[in-house]
Formats: sequence, structure tokens, C-alpha cells
Amino acid sequence: MDTFAVYPGTFDPVTYGHIDIARRAGALFDRVILAVAHNPEKKTLFSVEERVAMLKDAASDIDGVEVDDFGDLLIDYVRRQHAQVIIRGLRAVSDFEFELQMALTNRKLADDIQTVFMMPSEAYSYLSSRIIKEVVRLGADVEAFVPPNVQACLKKRLNPEG
Ligand code: ADP
Repeated sequence: MDTFAVYPGTFDPVTYGHIDIARRAGALFDRVILAVAHNPEKKTLFSVEERVAMLKDAASDIDGVEVDDFGDLLIDYVRRQHAQVIIRGLRAVSDFEFELQMALTNRKLADDIQTVFMMPSEAYSYLSSRIIKEVVRLGADVEAFVPPNVQACLKKRLNPEG
């Protein structure tokens, strides 16, 4: 049986940490959908269309990985895609509590869908989209952490004078 996975997230914007997880998931599953959440209660820097475009660009060389967006309940989206697995990345212990809550809630809603946690390379284990936005706002170069097109979009939006 082919195993399909959905890797959901805000991806505001995509970082090399997300891409590291996408690559690992791509090697494990027959198909992986990187699914950008609409998440209206989270104020995002980039629109869904912008986040999808950056992610598509960043993941274009990973076999078996595609990009989509969703605005409904994650479990409903996963079912619609005929996927059996939800991928989430775990960086530090600090991610654990929230991720555990979410995984167990999703399990209550759909016991047949498994959440699989993956660890990134340690080089990315402290990296978050939030930190990247903070440091770009202050003028830092983030080329080690995000693809070049993402860095350009961040600079344009957050530090156009810099
Ligand atoms: P969300 O708002 O859903 O947490 P994010 O885009 O911040 O969306 O993250 C999506 C998923 O990717 C989450 O499981 C998060 O823990 C994981 N993630 C984010 N950054 C990294 C990273 N540097 N390394 C590994 N996983 C990460």
C-alpha cells in the first residue's frame, strides 16, 4: 500500500529547517504534501499565496513532495488527500507540549491517522520562522537559514531600507 503524508504548517516563511524535515519525509513516504495552513487567527507576514509560492520554489528538487494549502480542519484535509500520516517537526523540548496536545487531539478525531515526529539536522534545531523575521527586521543576513528568494522577500517586506 502506498503511504501518503501531509506535513502541515504556517510556513511564514519556509526555512531550511522545514526543508530538512520535508526531505526526510520525502525519503520515507510515497507522497508528501507540504500543506500551508490559512490560519486566520495567526497574523502572518506573508499571504497564503506568497507562502505557497516560496515553499514550491524551495521544495522543487525534492522527489515525491508537492505543495498545497488548506483552510479546513487538518484531519478533514488529510482524509480528503487519502493520506494516513501527519508529519510534524520537533526541534527542542519546548515544541513537545504543544505538539503532544495537537497529536492527541487529532488522534481523538481520527484514530486511524498517525502523527509522525521528525527531528531536523542539529544545524536547524534552533531555527524558527519567528526568529528569522525578528533578525531580518534588525538587519541581519539570514542566507544560512532560508533560500535566497525567501531572504529577498523578507528584506523587501521587513527592512526595505537596509
Ligand atoms: P505551525 O504554526 O504549524 O507550528 P510552522 O511553520 O512554524 O507552523 O511549523 C510547521 C512544523 O514544522 C511544526 O511541526 C514545527 O515544529 C516544524 N518546524 C519549524 N521549524 C523547524 C525546524 N527548524 N526544524 C524542524 N522542524 C521545524
